[in-house]
Amino acid sequence: MSAKRIDGKLISDFFRAEFKLRVARLIERGTRPGLAVVIVGSDAASQVYVRNKARACESIGIYSEVHALSADVSQDELTAFVESLNQNPAIHGILVQLPLPKRIDDRAVIEAISPDKDVDGFHYANMGALVIDESRFPPCTPYGVMKMLEYEGIAVEGQHVVIVGRSNIVGKPQAMLMLKAGGTVTVCHSKTRDLARFTRDADILVAAVGKAGMITGDMIKPGAVVIDVGINRLPDGKLVGDVDFESASAVASAITPVPGGVGPMTITMLLGNTLRAAEFCAVPGGRMNETMIA
Ligand code: NAP
Repeated sequence: MSAKRIDGKLISDFFRAEFKLRVARLIERGTRPGLAVVIVGSDAASQVYVRNKARACESIGIYSEVHALSADVSQDELTAFVESLNQNPAIHGILVQLPLPKRIDDRAVIEAISPDKDVDGFHYANMGALVIDESRFPPCTPYGVMKMLEYEGIAVEGQHVVIVGRSNIVGKPQAMLMLKAGGTVTVCHSKTRDLARFTRDADILVAAVGKAGMITGDMIKPGAVVIDVGINRLPDGKLVGDVDFESASAVASAITPVPGGVGPMTITMLLGNTLRAAEFCAVPGGRMNETMIA
């Protein structure tokens, strides 16, 4: 079997085209969606991510501003800055690029973001809403995975979904979204004994660990759908996922590559969440309707 390659760039372009139309409609009605990205310090990888986010915003008409704060900014200054963005009517979404310097309490910073502008979906209020199926801003990476499956016509209902990784930004919210979609969900992590016993039983396998090539073809059920969230840089500079693409492709029915799989979807869902935040503001009474949560 040679697995279908799920093209995250193509699917991203599809959703971005739809978002672009919705942005144009909002602008006609007097609201231009705006995203503020806050970055602290000079981590090279974070700077690349932030630039890409700003560029993606511009490509569909969303206003964006990047605030690069000095590495020695204090906790209070950073919190106060986030609070000033909460008050700024031109800004509908606020994203604080993680990781923050170790001396900063990143949870306190996330909690300073208004839940109505928390387009990463990491605020307690939005995480809690996700658990009870009422999320306005599902975290972008797991949300992107759901949208990829939807686009590909891959049903989750009734499937055994195995997620490897239980982080707050990927594994746990992914589990909630898969549950909501009717999957039977198993979450594995570093303390899981005999990982392959679980992965071999997955109809849909999501790898979100951060270890290059750790999921090999012999750990995958023939015909399974494999979603590789991992991004790992090899010593030669090459980017690879958590899944050994070659051996997995020989067994799976469909698989996402790295790069060009989940990565582009993450940024696209950030655009979608920012747009939704702006639509929320533009609705009289600020109430969200069902189509906004699609
Ligand atoms: P993380 O916070 O480091 O979490 C990694 C998870 O993997 C943890 O739950 C850990 O278990 C588990 N794990 C570690 N070793 C394991 C093993 N041998 N067997 C099973 N589970 C193991 O990482 P993250 O932020 O979730 O990110 C995961 C990967 O996705 C990274 O490569 C990251 O770069 C990538 N990522 C990609 C995107 C994208 O847009 N494509 C977005 C976000 C993240 P414990 O909880 O027990 O420690």
